[in-house]
Amino acid sequence: MKNAKKIRLSKSILGMQEVNAVKDVLLNDGYLGMGKYVRDFEDQLRSYLNRKHVICVNSGTAALHLALMALGLKENDEVLVQSLTFVSCFQAISVTGAVPVACEIIPETCTIDLNDAQRRITKNTKAIMPVHYASRVGELDKIFKFAKKNNLRVIEDAAHAFGTIYKGKKVGSFGDISCFSFDGIKNITCGEGGAVVTDDDKIAEFIMDARLLGVKKDTAKRYQGLRSWEFDVTCHGYRYHMSNIFAAIGLAQLKRLEKEFKPKRQELAKYYHCALNGIPEIILFPDDYKEIVPHIFPIRVLGKKRDVLRQYLCDNNIECGVHYYPNHLLTLFTSKSLKLSVTEKVYSQLLTLPLHPDLSKDEQDKVIMCVKNFMER
Ligand SMILES: *Cc1c(COP(=O)(O)O)cnc(C)c1O
Repeated sequence: MKNAKKIRLSKSILGMQEVNAVKDVLLNDGYLGMGKYVRDFEDQLRSYLNRKHVICVNSGTAALHLALMALGLKENDEVLVQSLTFVSCFQAISVTGAVPVACEIIPETCTIDLNDAQRRITKNTKAIMPVHYASRVGELDKIFKFAKKNNLRVIEDAAHAFGTIYKGKKVGSFGDISCFSFDGIKNITCGEGGAVVTDDDKIAEFIMDARLLGVKKDTAKRYQGLRSWEFDVTCHGYRYHMSNIFAAIGLAQLKRLEKEFKPKRQELAKYYHCALNGIPEIILFPDDYKEIVPHIFPIRVLGKKRDVLRQYLCDNNIECGVHYYPNHLLTLFTSKSLKLSVTEKVYSQLLTLPLHPDLSKDEQDKVIMCVKNFMER
C-alpha cells in the first residue's frame, strides 16, 4: 500500500493539443498579452453558449468581482449567497464594499435555500449569487422569479457548471449574469482564467473596460492589434484581462469538452453513483448525470464518520476534499449571532471523492472498495 500511486482528487487534463496551442502563441504569434487568441476564445464561447457577450478575465474570482462591480454596489448593500461555497464568492462581494449575507442550503443539492434567503432580505439587498455546487443549479427557475419579485440582480457562480444542461439549455446560455472559472481543475481550464457572460450591453461594456484598468475601449483596440497610448479612464479597474497563452489553452480545451471530458466525467460519476448507492450512512446527490457535467463528486457521510473515513482514504493513498468550509465561520466573515445549523451539519458530512477525466477504472474501483470496506466494518 505504501508505495501505491496516489489517487488524485482532481487534475488538469493536458495533451499535445494544449502544447501545440501554446507553442503557436510563443513561436508564431509572439504576443503574449490580450490579443487575437482571447478574441477567438471569446467568439468560440459566445457561439458555444449562444450568448450576446462573453468577457474573459484571468480568474473566476475576477469574473465575480467585476460582475458585482458592474452592478454599482455601494457600501452596506447586501448580496445573498450560500455560506457553503468557495471563499472567492464572499471575497468578491466584500471587496466591493457590499456585505455577503450568508444563507442556508438545501441539503440534497447544497444549493441556496430560497426560504432562508427570503428571511434575510432587507431594503439593502441588491443581488443574489446562486452557486452551482457540484454542477447542480438547484431551484434556478425559482431563483429568477424570487429575484424579479424582489428587484434583485442574479449573478450565477457557474464555476462548477461549464457544459451543464438545465431544462434543455446550457448554463450560461440564459439568465442575468453568469460567471465561469477556467482554473487548473475546472471542467475546462486555461491554466487560470474566467469569463463573465451576459446579454446586458451596459454590464458588458463596463466589464470590458474594468478588466483593463478602466481604460475606455481598450479591448476593441487590442483586438485590432493596436494599443491605445492616449486614452481616458472613467472608472476604477483592475489588471484582470486574459492573456493569449491562457486563451490558446482554453481554445484547445473547449474543443475537447463535448466529446471527451463531458462523457468521461458523466460516466465516472454515474459509476460511483451505482456502486455507492444503498450503503447505509452514505447519502448521494441526485442521479442527474445525463444533464450535468460533474466537476466534483461529493457524498454525505452520516454517523460522525466523515473525518475517520477521510483519514482512512488518505492512509490508502486516496486524496479527498471537503467542499467547503462554511464562510460564515471564517474570521473575516463571522458574526457571533449567526448560526446556520443546516449548513454546519451538512458541512460536517461532506466528503469529495476523486473525479477527473484521467481517473482510471482501477483507481475508481479502489476508491469504491475502500469506502465500502470502511463503511461495512
Ligand atoms: C473555482 C471557483 C471559483 C473561483 O474561480 P478561480 O478561477 O479559481 O478564481 C469560484 N467559485 C467556485 C464555486 C469555484 O469552484
